[in-house]
Amino acid sequence: MKLIRFGDAGRERPGVLLDGRRVDVMAFGADYDEAFFAGDGLAALRAWLAIHGDSAPSVPDDVRLGPPIRRPSKIVCIGVNFRDHAAESGAEIPREPVIFFKATTSLAGPNDAVVIPRGGTKLDWEVELAVVVGRTARYVAPEQAIDFVAGYALHNDYSERSFQLERGGQWVKGKSADTFAPLGPFLATRDELPDTRGLGMWLEVNGDTRQRSTTANMIFDVPTLVSYVSDFMTLLPGDVISTGTPAGVALGMRPAPIYLKPGDEVTLGIDGLGQSRQRVIACA
Ligand code: ZN
Repeated sequence: MKLIRFGDAGRERPGVLLDGRRVDVMAFGADYDEAFFAGDGLAALRAWLAIHGDSAPSVPDDVRLGPPIRRPSKIVCIGVNFRDHAAESGAEIPREPVIFFKATTSLAGPNDAVVIPRGGTKLDWEVELAVVVGRTARYVAPEQAIDFVAGYALHNDYSERSFQLERGGQWVKGKSADTFAPLGPFLATRDELPDTRGLGMWLEVNGDTRQRSTTANMIFDVPTLVSYVSDFMTLLPGDVISTGTPAGVALGMRPAPIYLKPGDEVTLGIDGLGQSRQRVIACA
């Protein structure tokens, strides 16, 4: 299944993509939140769709898409998880996954504008495969980890590099502004992507390719990451783990980075997870 949420920000309704048709599943009676995933909501939704899918109303194309899950308890991110990105950053291949957080309030719809935060000067992009957790995960072995995954979504892990790298302390400062986590267009359930190891991923700025790689360049794969993070914290249903970005971010540009400015348009995609587009705007 491909899960979507649609409508005005903060008031989204649940839907699905059925053969390309955007279907309103408000009548199913549950949003895509922790309780939904914890209560085997995916199976219930699948059963409901088998009966009601064809007759459920369509969502007009001009209706905004929101993030495909309701605000989760955590957005956990993995840093320096692609060999090509480590090389451009001059970073060593990490011996263990690097973990950091994004504030959950950074979550945004896939095609919402990204807002340069007040005082920001170095807005950067990162196309990433996001994993959505399906079951409470704590001390999960790598061999079992995939059973704890509900599905996957396209994510742009926006970063304000001056906050992240020049203001002291943890990366979370530069990762957490509102609109910094556009997710979607949809959540693809695990059965839609049985193998996440060779997915093409790309990102363009104003039509120019900046990132073009594949998940084959990941240092730590999805099961390893789910297991690893679960050794340090309890992952709740609906939580997000964003699995890191390949080469081609502004920070890695030579001779000098060209960061995003108002009016720029960022488009990105991952095989099987659709595309998204964000226009850059200045803080009001
Ligand atoms: Zn990232």
